[in-house]
Amino acid sequence: MIKIGPIINGEELMFAGGDSVDVINPATGEVIAEQICCNSEFVDKAVESSKKAFESDEWQNMSPSERGNCLLRLAVLVEENAEELITLELQDTGKPISQLRGGEIPLTAQIIRFYAGAADKIEGKVKASSNGTFQFTMYEPYGVVTGILPWNYPLVNAALKVAPAVAAGNAIIVKPSVDTPLATTAFVRLCTKAGFPKGIVNLTLGRGSSTGQCLIEHPDIKKISFTGSTAIGQKIQKQAVEHMKSVNLELGGKNAIIVFADADLDKAADATLISAFVNSGQLCVACSRLLVEKSIATEFEAILKTKLKNLKIGDPMDEDTQVGPMITKSQYDTALKYMDESENDGCQILSGGKKLNLNDSLNNGFWLEPTLLTNVNADMKVATEEIFGPVLSIITFETEAEAVEISNSVEYGLSGSVWTKDSMRSLRMIKQLDTGIIWVNNMMDGYPQISVPPHKMSGTGVELGTEGLLTFCKQKSAVIGYDEKAPVGWSL
Ligand code: NAD
Repeated sequence: MIKIGPIINGEELMFAGGDSVDVINPATGEVIAEQICCNSEFVDKAVESSKKAFESDEWQNMSPSERGNCLLRLAVLVEENAEELITLELQDTGKPISQLRGGEIPLTAQIIRFYAGAADKIEGKVKASSNGTFQFTMYEPYGVVTGILPWNYPLVNAALKVAPAVAAGNAIIVKPSVDTPLATTAFVRLCTKAGFPKGIVNLTLGRGSSTGQCLIEHPDIKKISFTGSTAIGQKIQKQAVEHMKSVNLELGGKNAIIVFADADLDKAADATLISAFVNSGQLCVACSRLLVEKSIATEFEAILKTKLKNLKIGDPMDEDTQVGPMITKSQYDTALKYMDESENDGCQILSGGKKLNLNDSLNNGFWLEPTLLTNVNADMKVATEEIFGPVLSIITFETEAEAVEISNSVEYGLSGSVWTKDSMRSLRMIKQLDTGIIWVNNMMDGYPQISVPPHKMSGTGVELGTEGLLTFCKQKSAVIGYDEKAPVGWSL
């Protein structure tokens, strides 16, 4: 069985003061690995090591382009070690092999290369100066930062925290979810091989309530970049106030795909299904609400139902599989509960709605049928709460204004997608929808250069793009007086 431990100062530890927690393969329900968790003493050691590494001459004298070169080597190492990363991520999350090989591994390398190229392009501004002064702003690293990761895209999220953090000149301590630590651990091993000084990328393992909490409370961690649930994000935001830490929160979503009658319905249906069911719906930007214009609703539902029959769900090792299991037992139970309750609330199950029964070896996994719900009202639980599972709630609308109102009626504001051939309408929709990113006649393109700035309860700050890099920098302003005769205000 695989055994992993925290990586502090380049060394993987098989004792870190905490307990040992099993890692489960969600496709089979089997225990596949054991992880050694950090107690507070070992979190302190990780922070101490990161602080020393950040302050070292080696790191302080490394130029931004040399930091970029380390990241370029890391991207190559990710590609060279793709098979190992795929195997670990597949066992840990049950993601289909095609999704990992064709999507997540290339995206991870792409994110790292994007920030490698941006490392020497962090630019301040020269301001309109007067009174014999020269005025400018500049960006500096925070020092020691932490990246706290969710379980839905472990490797991609690790790259999304590590690459901009080190490109900006910080030292980072990563903490993956206790449910999915395997590929992140392999990734941090590769950071050491890529040439980052020891301690610049450290890894802590453990539960959020213990290891995560210690990281949040540590006074030497100056910036928290968190991706996870809104409830935990709120808690972290409150605690961070004590030391006035900078906090970036990428949280939940209840996003809508809006399909107007004039849209290309075939393409819109494909976009609806990939958005709702890729990664079994465990995706923050997933559109788990479909708002469809009433005049085409019956036709569009029929297209969805027909296409859904072609979706391949099952063994993640099978190259043809498109959808795997739920990643954790608790998320599986939550999604099943929403499915069960939806019928009591008056929704109609158009397709799916149950546990998926597969063959012997997969029978104990966390499998759910992709589910289409109709007869949904905009204020029902399935239409307002983030399920984070393969459940699409279909709601009809009659006017553009109604579509906007329903879309904006939820507490979240992460993403949205609009399908129409009317270009004026698409511009009006972009203006009116209160979400961080909107795709028009498109679904989920633009990574990693396009940023995702969460609105409302979906978070604060911004991830991805050059904007995401700047969230790992603190700003400084300077005013230099060069005119010896210029007054200073008082002449006492
Ligand atoms: P979660 O909030 O339960 O956990 C996220 C991370 O926080 C884990 O590493 C966990 O160990 C840690 N944690 C938990 N309690 C903590 C505490 N008190 N102090 C410090 N750390 C703590 O979320 P999850 O269940 O792992 O992920 C699913 C959620 O993440 C969904 O709501 C989803 O929408 C969201 N998500 C958002 C984005 C985004 O970019 N907006 C991306 C992926 C996932």
